[in-house]
Amino acid sequence: MGETIIPLADLRYAAPVPVIPAQAIPATGLLADRLGRPLRDLRISVTDRCNFRCSYCMPKEVFDRDYVFLPQTSLLSFEEITRLARIFVAHGVQKIRLTGGEPLLRKGLESLIGLLAGLRTPDGDALDITLTTNGSVLARKAASLRAAGLQRVTVSLDGLDDAVFRRMNDVDFPVADVLAGIEAAHAAGLGPIKVNMVVQRGVNAQEILPMARYFRDHFDGRIVLRFIEYMDVGASNGWRMDQVLPSAEVLALLQAEWPLLQLDPTAAGETAERWRYADGRGEIGLISSVTRAFCQDCNRARLSTEGKLFLCLFASRGHDLRSLLRGGASDADITSALAGVWGARDDRYSELRAALPAAAGPAGAERRVEMHYIGG
Ligand code: SAM
Ligand code: SF4
Ligand code: SF4
Repeated sequence: MGETIIPLADLRYAAPVPVIPAQAIPATGLLADRLGRPLRDLRISVTDRCNFRCSYCMPKEVFDRDYVFLPQTSLLSFEEITRLARIFVAHGVQKIRLTGGEPLLRKGLESLIGLLAGLRTPDGDALDITLTTNGSVLARKAASLRAAGLQRVTVSLDGLDDAVFRRMNDVDFPVADVLAGIEAAHAAGLGPIKVNMVVQRGVNAQEILPMARYFRDHFDGRIVLRFIEYMDVGASNGWRMDQVLPSAEVLALLQAEWPLLQLDPTAAGETAERWRYADGRGEIGLISSVTRAFCQDCNRARLSTEGKLFLCLFASRGHDLRSLLRGGASDADITSALAGVWGARDDRYSELRAALPAAAGPAGAERRVEMHYIGG
């Protein structure tokens, strides 16, 4: 068998090992970065693989049969993930989101959920544990995920028209199976359920009203539909500003049909602007990562499948925590190293991009990690 050649420029392999400070920095739960932002939200990618090929995330031309995904030995084990998560929680993390790739493709994910559900914040509270999924195997897994300790899910669905959706996931996957997954999640008691729709001008904007109508009319209006602006993550999707449908336009479309009232944010650093239908038929969210940067309150860190910590969705390099784990560092060492890394954080990519002229393409696209690798 020939050797697998991994391109040198592959960003998955470029990450310095964090320095362990000479003076220990214990966890106080009060970590702040250089812009004064705390660490509250940890997104953990449990696999870089996916059974979909959404054109805005893993376009088929790039993620084809020759694409080299991470080998099994590179992945953090569930015990390694839990050990790191415990340290993050001591530093102030209150919410953990499992993502990917498609997280439900990771074998035995329920046991990881069980381990994470056992963690407690310094105040003794349970964590808010959730998961983002494309919904393809949710109908089969909802009950076991709930039994393992998962509280809620976010399901991605970009339209109700079968032809549009099949084209967007690019593996001919039907809408009906994702809807069955959402129903199973609801029946299993996972909630509140959120549905994420990435809106692309010229691709699925015509699906905005049918999606809104569907989730107003089903599940007693209890599912929150969130419209996400198409983002310039990674370097594979050929992003262009003119494909972004600004949230303000989405809101105007909805308002013309159903009056909406703005709601206060439920938590600091919340990504979605929340609105409720004036007639009481539920709530929607607008995630305006392109037109309204929310870096100011960004309290999110992302852990890649192979244990690299990314401080921003648009970062060009990570911090190699796996080397610390596998190199024999103690919990106290990793706690101090993480404090040093977060303390030096000054990322605010979306704010900086907002200052660029509208015609400009994504800034620094050639250097950024891919979304399926660090998760959404
Ligand atoms: N596979 C799972 C899924 O699709 O829900 C989890 C991982 S996916 C990377 C997480 C979220 O990122 C999904 O809701 C997806 O729609 C969103 N996403 C991916 N690429 C995006 C892009 N270029 N712009 C905006 N959202 C994107
Ligand atoms: Fe897979 Fe999710 Fe990316 Fe679509 S958005 S290709 S489902 S990881
Ligand atoms: Fe946070 Fe980076 Fe997104 Fe700004 S661009 S909100 S810093 S992840």
